[in-house]
Amino acid sequence: MKKSSVGIVGAGIQGVCISLNLIKKGFNVTLIDRDDPGKISASYGNAGHFSPYASVPINRPDILVDVPSMLLSSTGPLALKWNYAPKMIPWFLQFIKNCTKKKMMHTAKYMHQILDLALPAYDELFQDIDVTGLVESKGIIYFWTDKDLKSRELEINIRKELGVKQQLLTPHEIHDLEPHINKIYHGGILYPNAKHARNPKKILLKLFDLFLKKGGNFKKQEIKNINFSSDDKPVLTTEESSYTFDKAVIACGAFSKKLTDQANEKIPLDTERGYHVHFKGHDHLLSRPVIFLNRGFGITPMEQGLRVVGTVEFGGLNNPPSNKRILNLVNNAKYLFSELSDHHDEWLGFRPTLPDFLPVLGPSKKYKNLFYSFGHHHLGWTLGAISGKIISGMIAGEKTNLDLSPYSSQRFS
Ligand SMILES: Cc1cc2nc3c(=O)[nH]c(=O)nc-3n(C[C@H](O)[C@H](O)[C@H](O)COP(=O)(O)OP(=O)(O)OC[C@H]3O[C@@H](n4cnc5c(N)ncnc54)[C@H](O)[C@@H]3O)c2cc1C
Repeated sequence: MKKSSVGIVGAGIQGVCISLNLIKKGFNVTLIDRDDPGKISASYGNAGHFSPYASVPINRPDILVDVPSMLLSSTGPLALKWNYAPKMIPWFLQFIKNCTKKKMMHTAKYMHQILDLALPAYDELFQDIDVTGLVESKGIIYFWTDKDLKSRELEINIRKELGVKQQLLTPHEIHDLEPHINKIYHGGILYPNAKHARNPKKILLKLFDLFLKKGGNFKKQEIKNINFSSDDKPVLTTEESSYTFDKAVIACGAFSKKLTDQANEKIPLDTERGYHVHFKGHDHLLSRPVIFLNRGFGITPMEQGLRVVGTVEFGGLNNPPSNKRILNLVNNAKYLFSELSDHHDEWLGFRPTLPDFLPVLGPSKKYKNLFYSFGHHHLGWTLGAISGKIISGMIAGEKTNLDLSPYSSQRFS
């Protein structure tokens, strides 16, 4: 019997995991990306956290009060490109609507549903590739000072309710675990089940190579248009060619909206821009990722050195990087480690974010052969393998016990 063909647009962690799951199920899979996989995408430059605990969303009742002071702070995590502010107003209005306690708990519940399955889904994929030295299981530490941290309690209580493992830390305990950090903190928390990648790009490429080895096709081309044949098959068009597939998946991260708009959807996808820099040769200073909550940035020990990651900048996909945000990261890193000197590899990446902080997973509203997997915001690296499993299961017509309706694009109709 002829195998069904599936075209996947986007070779970030979502597209690669979906492709690999589908090829294992016997589909004829073509993965398409305008770039080499993992070259500059969010799936390359992220903080590498596998964070199954992180179900409490940013849309929460207390956040709105904090936004103005965060925007004014020179050391804080939040920034806005003012030329983009008018374009983001509809997104902000929907975000505000999603900041009620009820909506926050809805997001937390359905993020928890998939986060809880995220690491087992990676374990399945990692059975077939060698990740020795690339994945560490030492947990992740968040720490804070006494100032401005009223919302710690809220998060801790919700996680307790959801059954997430967490361990409060005294300053003494933080120092024992990470003795090189300057002792600026007053308290912290360890998520012992979290893991981290020492090189997200290498992991992505290993999964991609396995996909090719199993007979997958890759085309380095940009998809410009999406149309549908008379029998409802998706037709993906590049500058040079058109490809018709039995089914297709849009997994272009923050860039997905350009294509979903063509499928008559009104999905309010936008981006939270984030940055990283590396301090080469300093990864021995940390055993595991840490996040300094007051300043909203984190540092992960990686093969590239210490990767300092942070900032939520609203500014769209086309504005240039902000030197001020890079400087902010560099200064924040030096605040924690006085011995750091020169940094390298300034990088800007795009988190794909919906105003309710749930991803879009599932079939298109109008076209039954078109599927979506994007909008995983701060957690798309963690959620790669489980999204791949969910979407490939949907395409194969498999039954599931999960309630997948909250992730549907129909919630924006
Ligand atoms: C600073 C920062 C730190 C982060 N830290 C973490 C973390 O620690 N843990 C975590 O879980 N998540 C983290 N994230 C989030 C995570 O990186 C993203 O959610 C995830 O990588 C998104 O994956 P994706 O495959 O959807 O998109 P991407 O990785 O952005 O990949 C999309 C791909 O689509 C391609 N593409 C786009 N348009 C087209 C087109 N028209 N035709 C062909 N190809 C196209 C692009 O070239 C790209 O390769 C972080 C993000 C940022 C920015």
